[in-house]
Amino acid sequence: MKLETIINDPSRIKVNEAVPFEILNDDYVGKSDGVHAVLYPITHEEVVAAVKYAIHHDLKIIARGSGTGLSGATAPVAQELVLDLSRMNRIHGLDESTMTLTVEPGVQLHEIQEYVESKGYFYPPDPGSKNSSIGGNVATNAGGMRAVKYGVTRDYVKALRTVLATGETLELGSINVKSSSGYDLKDLFIGSEGTLGITTRIDLKVIPLPKYKKSYVVAFEDLTLATRAVAAILQEGIDPTALEFFERDMMDLSVAQTGITFPVAVGKSYLLLTLDGDTETSIASRETELQRVVTEHQAMAFLPLNSDELEHNVWKLRDNLLAAVVNYTEQVTMDETVPINHVATLYEYTKDLEAEYGVQLMSFGHAGDGNLHTCVMRGDLDQAAWEEKKAIVLEKLYDRIAELGGLPSAEHGIGLIKKPYFHKMTQPLYLDMMRKIKTAFDPENRLNPTKVI
Ligand SMILES: Cc1cc2nc3c(=O)[nH]c(=O)nc-3n(C[C@H](O)[C@H](O)[C@H](O)COP(=O)(O)OP(=O)(O)OC[C@H]3O[C@@H](n4cnc5c(N)ncnc54)[C@H](O)[C@@H]3O)c2cc1C
Repeated sequence: MKLETIINDPSRIKVNEAVPFEILNDDYVGKSDGVHAVLYPITHEEVVAAVKYAIHHDLKIIARGSGTGLSGATAPVAQELVLDLSRMNRIHGLDESTMTLTVEPGVQLHEIQEYVESKGYFYPPDPGSKNSSIGGNVATNAGGMRAVKYGVTRDYVKALRTVLATGETLELGSINVKSSSGYDLKDLFIGSEGTLGITTRIDLKVIPLPKYKKSYVVAFEDLTLATRAVAAILQEGIDPTALEFFERDMMDLSVAQTGITFPVAVGKSYLLLTLDGDTETSIASRETELQRVVTEHQAMAFLPLNSDELEHNVWKLRDNLLAAVVNYTEQVTMDETVPINHVATLYEYTKDLEAEYGVQLMSFGHAGDGNLHTCVMRGDLDQAAWEEKKAIVLEKLYDRIAELGGLPSAEHGIGLIKKPYFHKMTQPLYLDMMRKIKTAFDPENRLNPTKVI
């Protein structure tokens, strides 16, 4: 059996030197020993044929979307056959009668958002990586900015077509609104990071597009004050669409990289919020409440982003935070989550570790979800000191997260790089049940081996 029998188009088969650099070099895992080949299927049938080829040659398989993942989940470890699904990128259409959008896995998030919004609908999940694929979003259960009000990718997946490790096609979920019909295998697949099957078609739920929205920047002296305000904003029912936080130092990196001005001079920590709704009065009344609540929590500035340009620029700065950190220094960006009443506790602990170990630690994230992205940054440490201190600081941080009842990943997934921490933080019986599920779907451990479990 030859690769050409799977895909009758040499431009969609890459072997040896033709394998793209980014497939062999993961930012977090490093350089791999190589892959069997990279295929770019464009149909479900080609994916099925590729899996059968892998079975025939006893190869492992990695499914890949846009490659924006941050947990080493697409790093090759066993000369795998890589199925890059980015060219399987057709939007099949929007069925308005059931408010269902049907897409292929390689469609990028921004294409989905633009397509449905042009028709008056809304796909709320909004990770910062707008070029990530919807197949990757489903496989990581991606979150993003609007989860605090609208939920995460899981909440918008109605049905999936998948190819199992046996080459069989399994349909999961349905476009029905409700189901109590047996185990929910669709939900098992969402967030399974390519370890249970390969998704080739996705039915997504869309909702009506809110007619109005407005964003705000609120400045505080420190992140502890900002996170206290977050709790009050949620308790008062102000119902923000997005509720992000970041530190000044981190924003300065984004400003330096983009050349965009951040419009607030005072403060060291910030909240960036959006309110949306169907009437201007609903936003105006919540804006009044918001201003009252943050003023009671010692806000130093409250800035409504009154023009489209200003709002666009501030969100661009926010979306660029991670890229700015990556550009600044070697780092590990975490994706932890703690119960929202412990965000300030965890943040203060990062500052204690920074003082104790001399490793720079900055944080940003989705304050309304208790989801921090703590960046452990090398700065000017030499290689040996960096490796030693990074390991200690990460271990201590994950231990503290566990004590606070948190989890190692809120939205990026476990992949390879969080696996040791995930296993340490998780009940052994839980891990055992996960292994049994993996074996039930993939008895020969063919799909994305060594990742997650
Ligand atoms: C600048 C930046 C900002 C980011 N912001 C956010 C954010 O706000 N929120 C968030 O949640 N994430 C964020 N991410 C992380 C990343 O974009 C997400 O994890 C995204 O969902 C990955 O999609 P991808 O298409 O790039 O997948 P990949 O990186 O290609 O793959 C990720 C995982 O999905 C699996 N996979 C991909 N396609 C399929 C498929 N069709 N079938 C089965 N498995 C598949 C892979 O095997 C792998 O395990 C950010 C990343 C960057 C670089």
